[in-house]
Amino acid sequence: MTLKDVKHWVFDMDGTLTIAVHDFAAIRRELEIPADEDILTHLNGLPAQVAAAKHAWLLEHERELALASTAAPGAVELVRDLAAQGCRLGILTRNAQELAHITLKAIGLDQCFAPQDVLGRDNAVYKPDPDGLLQLARAWDVAPAKMVMVGDYHFDLACGRAAGSKTILVNVPENPWPELTDWHAKDCFELRQLLT
Ligand SMILES: [Mg+2]
Repeated sequence: MTLKDVKHWVFDMDGTLTIAVHDFAAIRRELEIPADEDILTHLNGLPAQVAAAKHAWLLEHERELALASTAAPGAVELVRDLAAQGCRLGILTRNAQELAHITLKAIGLDQCFAPQDVLGRDNAVYKPDPDGLLQLARAWDVAPAKMVMVGDYHFDLACGRAAGSKTILVNVPENPWPELTDWHAKDCFELRQLLT
C-alpha cells in the first residue's frame, strides 16, 4: 500500500496538528505526579475524589492551551487537501474531546472532521492502547490495515502498530522510533509532498 492509496487518516492532535505547548514536567509538578509516571495512568490510580479534583485542574489548564492553539507547519494545508479528496478523517487524542473541538476550531480545521470522529480520553482507552483507532475502524467499516495513524510521539506509533494500522511520524527531525514507523516526514508540508 502506498500513501496515496490511504483514504482513512487518524491524527494525533497536540504537537501533530498544533505547535506543541504542553509543559508536561510543570503539569506533573502541579499535580504531584512522579517524573517517570504517565499522567493519565497516575490519575486513574488515585482515590476518586482526589482524581476528580486533579482531572478538573488539568481540564482547565488544557482549556487555556486549547484556546491559544496554533497550527503546526503544513497541518492545515494537509488536512484540507485530504478532506477535499474525500478521505475519512479522525482525531485520536489523549486530550479531552471538548478541548479537541476547541483546538480544531482555533486552527481552522473543525469543518474537516465529523464531530463523532474526534475521540478524546473520555471516549476511548488512551494511547498507546489501540481502542480509539479500532473504534474508528468499526465506525468507518474499514480494515485497520487500511488506516494510517499520524503522530509526533511513540504513543501514537505504538497505538497504530497495536491496531494493525500504518504509522506516520511528523514534527520530529530525527526518528527515535524507526521500528514503529512506516513513513517519516519532518513536518506536514513534507508529508503533503509524499502524497503528490
Ligand atoms: Mg502529540
